[in-house]
Formats: sequence, structure tokens, C-alpha cells
Amino acid sequence: MRTGRSLAELELIVRNRICGVCSERTESGECGLEKPSGCALFQLFPEVAKAIASVTSDDINDYVGAIRGQVCAVCVDQIPGGSCEKRQQVRCALDAYLLLVVDAIEEATGKVFDRSGPGFSGQSGVRTRPEIRL
Ligand code: SF4
Ligand code: SF4
Repeated sequence: MRTGRSLAELELIVRNRICGVCSERTESGECGLEKPSGCALFQLFPEVAKAIASVTSDDINDYVGAIRGQVCAVCVDQIPGGSCEKRQQVRCALDAYLLLVVDAIEEATGKVFDRSGPGFSGQSGVRTRPEIRL
């Protein structure tokens, strides 16, 4: 299934979904990070979208692996050896809200969910692969 959504459209959908629930969001509705452009989720959004599109699985760990391998690997916050202080302190929105990010991108790109399935900790199953215009 091809939805033809552009990367910019996908980013807007994910911003609307994630920033609205992010603990960094201020009461006035803005990003409370000292440097909002440093949010790894959006700083590396092309890599995030590609990583998620590369996976078809009902196991969230497969998505975690893709994010670690394709996004964290090029992120300035990951140190040699693979650890990340922001991840450990739950200050990376991508890592903290990964399930929501995957859901938002896959819904927007046409994956069909079976939320009664065993995957995603029982929250959703994935049946079809999306195509993203990157
Ligand atoms: S940290 Fe990232 S996800 Fe959270 S409000 Fe800021 S831009 Fe949005
Ligand atoms: S978990 Fe760390 S290395 Fe991975 S994207 Fe977030 S800040 Fe970057």
C-alpha cells in the first residue's frame, strides 16, 4: 500500500501526536527543551522514518533494534560503546515515546493494526509494510 506521504507531512503528524504528550512540553504548549532543535526525534527524523519503514514486525524490540542501529548510531548523544545518558535518564523523546512514534508513522503510512494480537506488549500487531516517500 502506498500513501505517498512526504517526510514533512509525516513529521507534522508525529509532532502533533508526540509533542502533545511529551513531558518536556510547557503549559503554553511549546517545547521546554533549552534547545528545541536538539530533540533527537526531530533532529534525526529522516533516519527515524527510514528505520521504522525498514521493519515489519509485531515485536517492538525489532523497532528498538532498528532505531539503535540506524538512529542512535548517528546521534551525537550516543557515546562509543553504545550507551546514551539521555536514554538512561529518559530524556530522549524518541526513546521514551517510541511505541507512539511507531504507531503514528505506521498509521499515517497505511499499516493495518490488529491490536488484539500479542505484539507490541499486547497493544498492536502489524500486518502490512508501509511505503514512505523519502
Ligand atoms: S522534546 Fe521533542 S517531542 Fe518533546 S516537546 Fe520538545 S520537540 Fe516535542
Ligand atoms: S536514545 Fe540517545 S543516542 Fe538514541 S536518539 Fe535518543 S539521544 Fe540519540
